[in-house]
Amino acid sequence: MSSPHDWSHDYRHPTPWDQPFAPLTLPDMLAASARRKGDAPMLDFMGRRFSYAEVADGVARVARGLQQRGIGRGSRVGLFLPNVPHYVAAYYGALAAGATVVNFSPLYTARELEAQVEDSGTDLLVTISAAALLPTALAVLDGSSLKHLVVGSIAGGLPAAKSMLYRLFKKSEVAALPDDPRVIRFSALAANDGRPDPVVIDAESDVALIQYTGGTTGTPKGAKLTHQNLTANARQVNAIDPDHDAGDRILGVLPFFHVFANTCVLNRTILNGGMIAMLPRFDAKAALRAITRTKTTALPGVPTMYQALLDHPDLAKTDFSSLRVCISGGAPMPAELREKFIAATGASLVEGYGLTESSGVVATNPYDGPVKPGTIGQPIPATRIRLLGRDDPTQDAAPGEAGELAVKGPQIMQGYWNRAEADKDSFTADGWLRTGDVAAIDDEGYIRIVDRLKDMIAVGGFKVYPSVIEAHLHEHPAVKEAIVLGVPDSYRGEVPKAFVTLEEGFEVSGEALAAWLNPQLGKHERVSAVEVRASLPKTMIGKLDRKALRAETSS
Ligand code: AMP
Repeated sequence: MSSPHDWSHDYRHPTPWDQPFAPLTLPDMLAASARRKGDAPMLDFMGRRFSYAEVADGVARVARGLQQRGIGRGSRVGLFLPNVPHYVAAYYGALAAGATVVNFSPLYTARELEAQVEDSGTDLLVTISAAALLPTALAVLDGSSLKHLVVGSIAGGLPAAKSMLYRLFKKSEVAALPDDPRVIRFSALAANDGRPDPVVIDAESDVALIQYTGGTTGTPKGAKLTHQNLTANARQVNAIDPDHDAGDRILGVLPFFHVFANTCVLNRTILNGGMIAMLPRFDAKAALRAITRTKTTALPGVPTMYQALLDHPDLAKTDFSSLRVCISGGAPMPAELREKFIAATGASLVEGYGLTESSGVVATNPYDGPVKPGTIGQPIPATRIRLLGRDDPTQDAAPGEAGELAVKGPQIMQGYWNRAEADKDSFTADGWLRTGDVAAIDDEGYIRIVDRLKDMIAVGGFKVYPSVIEAHLHEHPAVKEAIVLGVPDSYRGEVPKAFVTLEEGFEVSGEALAAWLNPQLGKHERVSAVEVRASLPKTMIGKLDRKALRAETSS
């Protein structure tokens, strides 16, 4: 049990590798850093800086404002936000009020958002008044059991941020909020004395975050991550990065709603007392400018981001002298891209690996030791791994053979929200998380991801699930059967492509189907093409055979 008032420990220092990490809640972690860092900057949002003290005050006000509206233990607060300062205040504020946070991608359509709001039982949703987000949130407020919508303003005081939000979301701000008692302005939520009722949080059993992922089946489900899962993962990553310190300035371009950024950008920076130079979302030109302006020291990203930075004409005029390390994850890092990025910037670039169910990080190449390109390095401290037989996951793979990577450690989720059945498939009988990734381990313990058992497509770092796109395709009257696969793409690694057969009597081209389908999909889900076929491969029992189609298209 950890009390919110125990600030005695300096949590930056890792415990020895073979010892468990002491229980720690996220609000305790923030409070400890706020006490140490005070007026030092925590956030740089397009030039406007927020100190640790300011953020801690905002967090306390949000917590109080939520409690005043009946949100606390047992409540769920959803975040439908890009990387804006409101995200940090709402995330830590909801946790300090005793609630659980549910992260939603700001790219979700109303349909995707509504499904996850309902599934998670989200009580209150936080968004900003950007035209790309607010109408979606309002539609969900009307169509779901959501009780409150809190809306932050992107106007005023931040002209650069405002114009960037406009540009990135390609729409102008919505000026007026509807006159609806369920809709609360962020400023009104925070207008209080900033003294929330103390809440006792059990770091090891209280769920801090419900994080949606397709898991191994592709059906969206919420991974339950406790406070301890998240704070342990930040401390585990610290333990392999001896150079981390409070002077780090991390470029925050990965979306905070995803665990990679949640752990490696947000929580870890707060643990260490560094600063996040945040952008609402990734934009190569703005990112390069921010690196020079804020003297960025560390840059966590996905391979497509590094490629976009390399390809940008402003690369040559960017000052990379402060950059010590780039951390790539989310998708395989091509060796050539890695070399080119190192040559252009002089920084080191290490590849790591993790998944939503592991709070972000499972393994990484060493920051201060030999990197093996093409591998994801070794397990981080306090993490154990095992390879399961591909055909019989109840047994270990034969020595020296590749197998499904299975993981144990303090960062592994407690299971899925309301999905006891999925838990049975995702964990072995003795509690190892099955990752759905096939790996091989070399003599020095470096892990190579060689295949994927799950139906996920990694579009850049963004994860796309075939079942979601297939469900849309089945709504077209002409579509009889559909399989969506990832096909190679030189820039994004892979992209979705659909293969369909048609109902009798229908005639429609693949182009027409793609033109009908794509506007309904999120940006990364859009298919490169729809191929109409006379038949699709079937298994012995007559089910669509995704594996056979994959083998056929990749040969
Ligand atoms: P997510 O739950 O969205 O974080 O997706 C996790 C999945 O991304 C993993 O199970 C892998 O399939 C993939 N992934 C993450 N990092 C890497 C990497 N460095 N190399 C290959 N695949 C990766």
